[in-house]
Amino acid sequence: MDLGLQGKVALVAAASKGLGYAVARGFAREGARVSIFSRDAGRIEEAAERLRQETGAEVLAQVADARDSAQVQRVVDETVRRFGRLDILVTNAGGPPGGGFEDFDEQAYLDAIQLNLMSTIRLCRAAVPYLKQQGGSIVTITSISVKQPISGLILSNTARLGVVGFAKTLADELAPYNIRVNNVGPGSTRTDRIVDLARQRAERQGITLEEALKDSASGIPLGRLGEPEEFANVVVFLASPAASYVTGQTILVDGGLYRGSL
Ligand code: NAD
Repeated sequence: MDLGLQGKVALVAAASKGLGYAVARGFAREGARVSIFSRDAGRIEEAAERLRQETGAEVLAQVADARDSAQVQRVVDETVRRFGRLDILVTNAGGPPGGGFEDFDEQAYLDAIQLNLMSTIRLCRAAVPYLKQQGGSIVTITSISVKQPISGLILSNTARLGVVGFAKTLADELAPYNIRVNNVGPGSTRTDRIVDLARQRAERQGITLEEALKDSASGIPLGRLGEPEEFANVVVFLASPAASYVTGQTILVDGGLYRGSL
């Protein structure tokens, strides 16, 4: 299937590694021009160079913190200045720390909302005026936790549902401009984030990292963690013109982990 991404411009947030990087590579492989950013200059430039070497794509790398409105606005403006247009936005950021209700004060909740909800809103605020010029699409990277809370991740479980309410509303408001908005929720996908969380759990429970990782995969019907590329394939498809009649949806890429019927 031709996804219709040749020559399109895709901005992928928080993409020096993990899911964001895999998504950027997916777009690059399909012939899109790619703009990526994260907070560390060395890491994002190194990621961009790997993408260029591997795919031959044009890649713009910038340094910015998704929690800072001015920096996000600069990244979006610079993307359009460099490539002349913006067709696709993928919102993403790091995840909040693991822990339960007794572990966090009010500031921790505000920080999680700032990291995962406000970053999505500000990326959309900066990108939508450009997307409106010719239509396009937005995909948010959320989590399986928007449908099924993950125990020990109360901050993530709380902050991410706002993203879904925001995205569903945006899907309605932007449909007349031919801009689609969808959410993709990873289950357990093998990135540094998942290994770090497994390490924290191993310490809490007095087990080894290997045992904690095996534990993470035990409830998954497909019997294993997902790979970042398997997640990226779904994001790239949903963002592409091949998914032109899909908007306002939340799709999980979780190996069957979510137990609800709908
Ligand atoms: P990761 O830690 O492997 O990568 C995160 C990326 O985001 C890195 O490039 C990092 O530099 C960048 N980043 C972090 N904070 C940033 C900020 N404030 N501004 C700009 N860049 C920032 O994480 P991942 O596994 O790729 O996860 C990506 C998102 O998906 C996270 O929000 C995570 O909580 C969520 N998620 C991941 C999984 C999974 O299984 N990996 C499952 C559910 C949800």
